[in-house]
Amino acid sequence: MRLVILGCTGSLPGPRSPASAYLVQTRDRSGRLWSVAMDMGSGGFGVLQSVLPPEALDFVALSHLHPDHCADLTGLAVYAKYRPGAAMESLPVYGPADTPHHLGELRYSHDPTSEGGDFHYGAWSEAVGISVGPFVITPYRVLHPVEAWGFRLDGPSDITPGELVTLGYSGDTDTCDGLAAVAAGTDLLLIEAAFEEDRDVARGVHLTGRRAGQAARAGRAKRVVVTHLPPWNDPAVTLAAVSSVYPGPVYLARQRASYVI
Ligand SMILES: [Zn+2]
Ligand SMILES: [Zn+2]
Repeated sequence: MRLVILGCTGSLPGPRSPASAYLVQTRDRSGRLWSVAMDMGSGGFGVLQSVLPPEALDFVALSHLHPDHCADLTGLAVYAKYRPGAAMESLPVYGPADTPHHLGELRYSHDPTSEGGDFHYGAWSEAVGISVGPFVITPYRVLHPVEAWGFRLDGPSDITPGELVTLGYSGDTDTCDGLAAVAAGTDLLLIEAAFEEDRDVARGVHLTGRRAGQAARAGRAKRVVVTHLPPWNDPAVTLAAVSSVYPGPVYLARQRASYVI
């Protein structure tokens, strides 16, 4: 399994990266490549096109409907409708229950048959896994001001043939039971840390580096990639905060970086 960072800046596109957008890929036993987009925030679809022909996407998993996680689905919808031969009408797009209506508001037309109207929309249910080729994607409700989900992706290892590995993605969240379920026993944990200790005191919105590290430590995650840092954060401060409580390897997400598990 391979995670590619398409965008990792928190809450908006930044000078070095689009907002949240990730690609996860793995091959099945026949060698067929499966590709799942996790979130498609502002600017992410442009980077996706430089990594993968969008018509090769098999599934889109949205954590929640804040624009920094879903705005570029509109670009994907335009691509699907107008690129000759794209044939993406039945692309599964899973997210919160309100996803089709919300994206209808963002599209160029309110006509339900306009761009993106043909996608196969699905709503997450707590802990109900969705199979996508050799992947199983299992959502857990997390703690954010809107309906928001984190995911576990189980699938074949790219390092040890025949083994299954798990990638966890926090989405946007504060400390909660859903995050604990996402993090537990992961081979790689992609976790947000938008807030800084003592500066951002609101609760129920985002993790600090310290709280992200605590979730990774409690879940015994093997490796951690920290993401969703706003442009005004000092990444070194966040990295130090995570590492102050989590003893394993920690990486700061960078646009176009990839991680193999
Ligand atoms: Zn966000
Ligand atoms: Zn959010």
